[in-house]
Amino acid sequence: SMKRFGFVDQVVDYLKEAGVETKLIEGVEPDPSVETVFKGAEVMRDFEPDWIIAMGGGSPIDAAKAMWIFYEHPETTFDDDPFTVPPLRNKAKFLAIPSTSGTATEVTAFSVITDYSSGIKYPLADFEITPDIAIVDPALAETMPPKLTSYTGMDALTHAIEGYITRAAWALTDALHIKAIEIIAGALRGSVAGDSQAGEAMALGQYVAGMGFSNVGLGLVHGMAHPLGAFYNTPHGVAN
Ligand code: FE
Repeated sequence: SMKRFGFVDQVVDYLKEAGVETKLIEGVEPDPSVETVFKGAEVMRDFEPDWIIAMGGGSPIDAAKAMWIFYEHPETTFDDDPFTVPPLRNKAKFLAIPSTSGTATEVTAFSVITDYSSGIKYPLADFEITPDIAIVDPALAETMPPKLTSYTGMDALTHAIEGYITRAAWALTDALHIKAIEIIAGALRGSVAGDSQAGEAMALGQYVAGMGFSNVGLGLVHGMAHPLGAFYNTPHGVAN
């Protein structure tokens, strides 16, 4: 959809104008696989980018984060400690442009990659994979179908509530989560109905939630939503 609505061309044109050479890596599936990650990392090792620009929903941005790890450290494996990523930014920095208002992956330390052959979901969690820059433009999410807007919006609301009630929560993250709940509760219905002001509020609310839960993690709702969502083939936000 990023291509269909002209957003990819727009970014590539801006970069061309600035004299930046680019290479597109496309076709990341929902719930990205280890194979997609390895393939993308190989393209990166060949092209040697200084910047990785990830654009789209949670899946392509999560996939690009993992590609980044294997681009800079080809010797890494998914069986290594998922909470310790080797130091990045020796080769590239990372810019994320989200197209949905929900996962907040553009501001979090998380990425989820699926190994379909073993049925394992790898949750990567380390501040190394937090993007250097996030461009949150609500115009991108506005092109999403209402169903997807409601699913991703419920994901954002779940992040805010779970981050608020998790045992690691404290005053600073409470401030972010309470504000996020307030913004999302006031905007979720309107954003699904296509109200662009509500859509703008959702883009902000999910981001504020991400700033919170990236610091304290989530809880058992997400702990159950990932495996059950995969088992029943249920969209992540609905599974929450
Ligand atoms: Fe989530």
